[in-house]
Amino acid sequence: MTWNQQVVKKNNKALVLQLIMEKEPISRADIAQVSGLNKTTVSSLVTELLTEELIYESGPGESSGGRRPVILHFNKNAGYAIGIDIGVNYVLCILTDLKGKVLIEKNEMVNRTPYSTIISIVQKMIQSIIDEMPSSKYGIIGIGIGVPGIVNKEGTILLAPNLGWTNIQLKEDIEKLFDVPVIIENEANAGAIGEQRFGIAQDYKNIIYISAGIGIGVGIILNKELYQGNNGYSGEMGHMIIDINGKQCNCGSRGCWEAYASESALLEMVHPNIDSLESLISLAENGDEVAQDLFDKIGTYLGFGINNIINTFNPDYVIIGNRMALAKEWIEQPIRTTIENHTLAYHQKDLQVDFSRLEKYSTCLGVSAFVVDYFIKEEARNL
Ligand SMILES: [Zn+2]
Repeated sequence: MTWNQQVVKKNNKALVLQLIMEKEPISRADIAQVSGLNKTTVSSLVTELLTEELIYESGPGESSGGRRPVILHFNKNAGYAIGIDIGVNYVLCILTDLKGKVLIEKNEMVNRTPYSTIISIVQKMIQSIIDEMPSSKYGIIGIGIGVPGIVNKEGTILLAPNLGWTNIQLKEDIEKLFDVPVIIENEANAGAIGEQRFGIAQDYKNIIYISAGIGIGVGIILNKELYQGNNGYSGEMGHMIIDINGKQCNCGSRGCWEAYASESALLEMVHPNIDSLESLISLAENGDEVAQDLFDKIGTYLGFGINNIINTFNPDYVIIGNRMALAKEWIEQPIRTTIENHTLAYHQKDLQVDFSRLEKYSTCLGVSAFVVDYFIKEEARNL
């Protein structure tokens, strides 16, 4: 084969594997039909994929007349992906199969975030997951990490204001430790992908994912594609300015949305005895009116920012996720009321606003999906 033919063959193989993953159970004939590849090509690629244990056969399936076809399935346990969400006050680490099912989970609250501390927590979590995971043909196929900051296309974390990090080579450091492909992505972008693949917005085209925690990030999916901007820095709407003479923000500017509508804005307003979102929620649940009023205020501020975003993008789905979604019961109504009262009526038509049902898993599942995509498009084709 010439070099060109090799490339074509590898691309076709990735395409066939992707199709089997998305459309399983599926027959060889259907793969040929959907992909436009001829039956001989499909047949030889399927034979390779079977040998590599990336797919398996069962049969016979439904017949449309003639001989009943053997059906192909994606082997979701051929290997496993690790998805990690580094928050400002927590680290969540999951092991998923190749279709995003969570098999193992490690979760730790943190209150100091120097890079050296966080990387040793992350290293321990990954190691304990590797020690516990089931055996498989390909083991860990990669590690995806979502971070609350600006990440360039090379995977360098340029700035994570709420962690106090600049120019962090997390990708390189984790690759050295574990010798598998590592993908670093902004946590809100990853969360948006998590929601699109596994969450409530699977059938929607223009999705805005609001990740509201200690900071606020926004993941933007336009026409089914993640919108990353020129250099991958899109979605920093936590720093859209809603008060030109406003409060100081960790980014160095003033009056940013996240200084008013985030978990840290909420905690700034409470009595110093209350040190967590969870304890404020239980106060509200026990009828504490001060706590309920605070959630009302934060919900209203969230609503104003979401109004700006809806008026800008005219999305069909807005999903509110990350830690503030824990307070859904207390912030949902002020968010909805603010949107109803302020958002352009045209933009409210055909619009859904809802809270994530993946809860804390949106980002982890999103980065884990990036890892699986990379494995299928870049690695499996070279096996
Ligand atoms: Zn800011």
